[in-house]
Amino acid sequence: MGLINNKKAIITGGASGIGEQAARLFIEHGAQVVIADLNAERGEALAAELGERAFFCPVDVSDAAQIETMVAEATRLLGGLDILINNAGIGTYGRTHLADPAVWHRVIDVNLNALFHTCRHALPHLMKQGGSIINTASISGTRADYGFHAYAASKGGVINYTRNLALDYATDGIRVNAICPGLIETPLATPLFGHPGVMEEYLNNIPMQRAGQPEEIAKVMLFLASDLASYVTGQEIGVDGGVSAWTGQPRFPNHFGDIVIP
Ligand code: NAD
Repeated sequence: MGLINNKKAIITGGASGIGEQAARLFIEHGAQVVIADLNAERGEALAAELGERAFFCPVDVSDAAQIETMVAEATRLLGGLDILINNAGIGTYGRTHLADPAVWHRVIDVNLNALFHTCRHALPHLMKQGGSIINTASISGTRADYGFHAYAASKGGVINYTRNLALDYATDGIRVNAICPGLIETPLATPLFGHPGVMEEYLNNIPMQRAGQPEEIAKVMLFLASDLASYVTGQEIGVDGGVSAWTGQPRFPNHFGDIVIP
């Protein structure tokens, strides 16, 4: 049984990682999907593999004009719009005094400014019958991470903009939520997986002691897109193996064992 039968969805960054798994799951659950991505080769191949309910639209989400064209073409192909997934994203690393301003602007454009433009063009379609907007933020938008300057700033912006959109469109029947993934095994995070020291520290700091898989984020997107989440709006939903539940204080059982102190 499809949870989003006949729903029409745009997924930015739908050609890889989390977005790709969302496209696969949404098709499985009866939706029509536009994969909107910079990577035409992967996007076209995925749309062809997923069949007649999947389409590819090329877009660089850092370019407002391309977003306008993409939303117009996507809504034409789909015959309307019920679900918008703002998921395309890029990372960066380094301390601010060494950072290149062009990189700062690129990250803010792709990860944050793009949402304003996709929403601006998608909302008139969503307002016709209601719908769901899901923004891929990050745990790095709820707290900071070393060296993530523009990434942390952009994802923090995504979370608060999500709340604003949720308020402004609540009475139009549009729910808006952000997902905050922790470490997810996708091409974006590949450099981290190749570094044993980093992975050891990561796994120490993840209560579930493993990275997440992109389909584990896609399942939460499906929930938020479906009527199962009919009263959920304006939320930042951590999908992070428990990272955001922990203050970072010592793992006391490692030091005290399984004892009870009266
Ligand atoms: P990914 O690199 O596998 O996929 C990102 C997709 O976005 C790619 O298909 C890429 O071509 C597309 N993209 C990048 N720049 C674009 C642009 N300018 N225009 C259009 N498309 C563009 O990475 P992922 O891990 O699946 O990332 C998806 C989202 O999840 C991102 O917003 C990322 O910040 C977020 N996220 C990922 C992790 C993680 O550990 N992987 C953690 C937290 C948040």
